[in-house]
Amino acid sequence: MSQFNTGFLEVICGPMFCGKTEELIRRVRRAIIAKKQVLVFKHQLDTRYVKRNLMSHSKISHRSKVVKSAKDILKKITPRTQVVAIDEAMLFGTELITVVEKLVNQGKRVIVSGLSSTFDAQPFEPIPSLMAVADRVDKLSAVCNNCGKEAIFHKKLTNNHIDALAITAKHVGEKDIYEARCRQCFNLD
Ligand code: ADP
Ligand code: MG
Ligand code: ZN
Repeated sequence: MSQFNTGFLEVICGPMFCGKTEELIRRVRRAIIAKKQVLVFKHQLDTRYVKRNLMSHSKISHRSKVVKSAKDILKKITPRTQVVAIDEAMLFGTELITVVEKLVNQGKRVIVSGLSSTFDAQPFEPIPSLMAVADRVDKLSAVCNNCGKEAIFHKKLTNNHIDALAITAKHVGEKDIYEARCRQCFNLD
């Protein structure tokens, strides 16, 4: 357990539908069983399902604190906080990188989950930078909705004219807008 006293950064990433939120909630539940002081955060832009809860596509949920920015996370942390979990990292932008580094340097276990790439398969900050400095990275894959193989990307089905790198609620996955795709099927319509 001494690894967590010196701070520890875990990144859970991959495309939409790969199970990032489920895995984040699994780790949070285990930390609570271990009687750790846990704080769970979601961004105000993520308004899917229940406003205050993290919720997976499979309807697994957990209470969370809703914040407007990465700096607001820092305001809610106390010296007693041991584990900090943050979902949908891309909604916080690059400001999240310094906030996470600060928390890890304070000795916290920080678990961050988010998209590793955009719907047009470009690296999507802040996850790539956080992966580089993490103690542990889990890059999950979804099931390709076209052929059933391992999907490392997600693809936008409708043309809603959003910039792939924009910080917008439109990046939080819904099945009528996005599909998980393997490398081969990503290039098909
Ligand atoms: P993420 O946070 O990565 O978008 P969630 O944790 O919210 O993913 O949801 C994962 C769940 O989504 C899976 O356990 C499964 O029930 C469901 N699901 C729906 N479509 C897919 C898909 N194409 N591949 C894998 N899981 C899917
Ligand atoms: Mg999710
Ligand atoms: Zn495929």
